[in-house]
Amino acid sequence: MYRAPRGTRDFLPEQAERFRRLEDLAALLAQQYGYGEIRTPIFELSELFQRGVGEDTDIVEKEMYSFSDRGQRSLTLRPEGTAGAVRAFVQHKLYNEAMPGKYFYFGPMFRYEKPQAGRYRQLWQFGVELLGAEGPRADVEVIALGWQYYQELGIKTRLVLNSIGCPHCRQEYRKALIAYLEERELCQLCSDRLHRNPMRVLDCKNSQCQEELEEAPLIDQYLCGECREHFQRVQEGLDQLGIPYDLDGRLVRGLDYYTRTTFEYKTDELGSQDALGGGGRYDGLVELLGGPATPAVGLALGIDRIELMNPPALQAQEQRRGIWLVTMDPAAGQAIALAQELRQGGARIQYDLMERKFRAQFKQADRNNCRWALVIGPDDLEQGKAVLRDLVTGEQQELSLDIVTETVLNLEGAK
Ligand code: AMP
Repeated sequence: MYRAPRGTRDFLPEQAERFRRLEDLAALLAQQYGYGEIRTPIFELSELFQRGVGEDTDIVEKEMYSFSDRGQRSLTLRPEGTAGAVRAFVQHKLYNEAMPGKYFYFGPMFRYEKPQAGRYRQLWQFGVELLGAEGPRADVEVIALGWQYYQELGIKTRLVLNSIGCPHCRQEYRKALIAYLEERELCQLCSDRLHRNPMRVLDCKNSQCQEELEEAPLIDQYLCGECREHFQRVQEGLDQLGIPYDLDGRLVRGLDYYTRTTFEYKTDELGSQDALGGGGRYDGLVELLGGPATPAVGLALGIDRIELMNPPALQAQEQRRGIWLVTMDPAAGQAIALAQELRQGGARIQYDLMERKFRAQFKQADRNNCRWALVIGPDDLEQGKAVLRDLVTGEQQELSLDIVTETVLNLEGAK
């Protein structure tokens, strides 16, 4: 027997419906804020991620699904959405259009991680990218959009905020951090990364490394005047919108291309997988990928973890819905033609496909949680009528066939 590959999942109709709701809500919200959808390929040249995400990141070092195709190109299943979106922005010269460019995406990402509840190898993300705006107002808009998504779903999150400065102020900080870390006992990976990318160490999950970091210098004392002011104004903007946040000087996020603002939405409800989503500013990435220098800020929200929390907005509606057509030969042909007409009018309507008896058809109506049964048997057809049964109250009424379509389409719960 075959099973879905480790770390991947099948979404059967009930769960798939929940994912669809999450996607619809995300798209609607993004459009409310003026973001247009962008769909990029599921795989890209591996080099794009090596450059765009960064060689020293966990994603590139150990989590990519890479393969060569028959033309000997190295390709990688996208582990995140930003590199592809920025690649498209540069490729299609979207920087020549009115700025800022505002894009959103929703789709699967692939990471070779150790699977557990809330951590998968095919995961889903909703993300937005705002390109071309440097000011703090842009950061605030992106953070507010993510915040609103959780609010609409009824999920409590804690917003954590930091600024990691610009390459200019990070230089001094790097020196201080390296000097501090050189004296400590770090895990092998961190020792290897220490001189190339010391800020990665702040992100390490190893408990020994975390202990050693307790007294580590924090970036906030090293921010240059401009970065400090930018960060201050992001905080003021959030205050004005009434969005609460905690500052955390260690929040650096796992990707190399971040500058200035970094943020994460956390939850207490999922144990160790406490990150629901996050993002930040990445002013250097567009240029790194061959475009003109373009400031940018974005976020990515994990959809699997949201679904796992079963937020109120996703809980199944108990209400009955739709119509079951109950019929039998020789009336079935004509009755089905009528059902087709009702479908074209927008009704949710089903009928028996296995030539079952009347009683069994009513059972199907019930099992499918239908609100109404529309009965058109051979005798009814002869008399030019149909019978409509309310499956909640059990009440029945007769309808003349020439008003069936109009009446049924206006029934509560028919669509
Ligand atoms: P990241 O881009 O790594 O910050 O990921 C953004 C969000 O995606 C995280 O906060 C998680 O909610 C979600 N996420 C990341 N990796 C996984 C995974 N392997 N399985 C499920 N969700 C994930």
